[in-house]
Amino acid sequence: MFKTIIIGAGPAGLIAGKYLDNSLILDKKKEIGKPVQCGEGLSQIALSIQGITPDPAWISTFIQNIEVIVPSGKKIILPGQDAGYVLDRVAFEKFLATQCQAEIKLESKVVDLKREKDCWAVYTEKGDIYRAQYIIGADGPLSVTRTKLFGGKFGILPTYEYLVELEKEVLISTIRLYFDKEKYPDGYVWIFPKSKHTANIGLGGYKELDKRFKYFMDTTVVPEFGNYKLLTNKSGLITYGGMRIKLFKDNVFLVGDAGALIDPVLGGGINNAMISGRLATEAILNNSSHLFEKKLKSMSYFSEDLMYAQKVLYSLPNSVLNEIADISENKNPLDLKNLSGLVKFFSKSKLRSRAWQLFKLFSILQRSGTSFG
Ligand SMILES: Cc1cc2nc3c(=O)[nH]c(=O)nc-3n(C[C@H](O)[C@H](O)[C@H](O)COP(=O)(O)OP(=O)(O)OC[C@H]3O[C@@H](n4cnc5c(N)ncnc54)[C@H](O)[C@@H]3O)c2cc1C
Repeated sequence: MFKTIIIGAGPAGLIAGKYLDNSLILDKKKEIGKPVQCGEGLSQIALSIQGITPDPAWISTFIQNIEVIVPSGKKIILPGQDAGYVLDRVAFEKFLATQCQAEIKLESKVVDLKREKDCWAVYTEKGDIYRAQYIIGADGPLSVTRTKLFGGKFGILPTYEYLVELEKEVLISTIRLYFDKEKYPDGYVWIFPKSKHTANIGLGGYKELDKRFKYFMDTTVVPEFGNYKLLTNKSGLITYGGMRIKLFKDNVFLVGDAGALIDPVLGGGINNAMISGRLATEAILNNSSHLFEKKLKSMSYFSEDLMYAQKVLYSLPNSVLNEIADISENKNPLDLKNLSGLVKFFSKSKLRSRAWQLFKLFSILQRSGTSFG
C-alpha cells in the first residue's frame, strides 16, 4: 500500500516521483528512457522551471538558433540566444530517476485499475497488485489509465522520425523547422542536431509519412548534407488537446502525454509533461486535488488558444508563409509591433487579407510560450 502510484517513468512520472515519498513508479520498460520516441529538443526555460541545472552528461547539443524555413527557401529566425538543448533523452531520464524519492519498478506493465473501498488497486501483466490512495497516470500517448478510467476527445498526430547519420557536418547550435503546406500539409519537418554528423529528422502528418520523409531527405537533406544513413527509428504519437478533456477524477490524475498535454502548435511535450507531473504532486501534497485541473488549464502552456493557433498555422498556404518570411528579413516575425513592421505587413496583399487572423496567431504564440520542447 502506497500513498501514490505513478504509472509511467517518462519525464512526467519521474518529476512526480521526485516530490512524492511513499510512492511507487511502475513502468513496462526494461530500461529507463529506452526506446526513445522523440526529437529530444528542450527549451532552456523548461529546465529552469524545474530548477534543473543543465549538464553536458545528458545534453547532446546546445541550441542557440531556431530557424524556420518557408517554401521559398527563406529563413525566419526565432528568438534564441541560449534557446535550449537537444537532449540525450535516455541519460536525461536516468538522471531524473536518480532524483526520485519514489520506488521504481521496471518490467511492470499495468493492465488494469480498480476502485476498492478506500483505495485504488493497480494490476500488472505479471499478476502483481499494488494499492494506493492516489494514482498519477503518466503512461504516455496510449495511456491505460486514460483508456480505462477517462474518455474524451483529443487529437493524435502520427510522426515519422529517424536518427540519421549525415556525410557532411550539420551546424550543431541550430535547429531547423521546415513549413510547406503542399509537401508537408499537417505538420512541419524538423532537423535537430545530435552531433556534428547525426541528427533527429522527422515530420508529423496523417498520411504517407514515409514517402514524405524520403522526399525531404532526397530533395533537401542530400543536396546540403550529402548521403545519409538511417540509424534508429524514433517515430511515435503526439497527443494534444488535453485542455478539452477531463484530467482528474476520484484521486486519479492524468499528466503529460497521457493527458494529451503536448503543445499542439510545435509538438513539444517534455516541458508540459514535467509541469503537469509536478502540478499533480503539489495537488497531493497540499490536499488540493480538486484545484488541479483548473490550475493546469489556466496556465499559458495549456491554453485553449493554442488549438486556434494550431488550426490557423497549419492552414496557411505557401504564399502566406513566403510573405511572412519576406517581411521578417531573418528576424522574429512576432516582432511586428513597430510602425515600419506594420507598414511592411500591410504592403503584402496575402498578409493584408488575413491581417486579423495573423495578428491573433502571433499574439497567441507570443504569450503562450509555445516551444519546440
Ligand atoms: C517523434 C516525436 C518527436 C518528439 N519530439 C519532441 C521534442 O523534440 N521535444 C519535446 O519536448 N517533445 C517531443 N515529443 C513529445 C515528447 O516525446 C513527449 O511529450 C514526452 O515524452 C511526454 O512525456 P511523458 O512522461 O508524458 O510520456 P512518455 O515519455 O511517453 O512516458 C510514458 C512512460 O509510460 C510507460 N508506460 C506506458 N504504458 C504503460 C503501462 N501500461 N504500464 C506501465 N508503464 C507504461 C512507458 O514505457 C513510458 O516510459 C516528441 C514526440 C514524438 C513522438
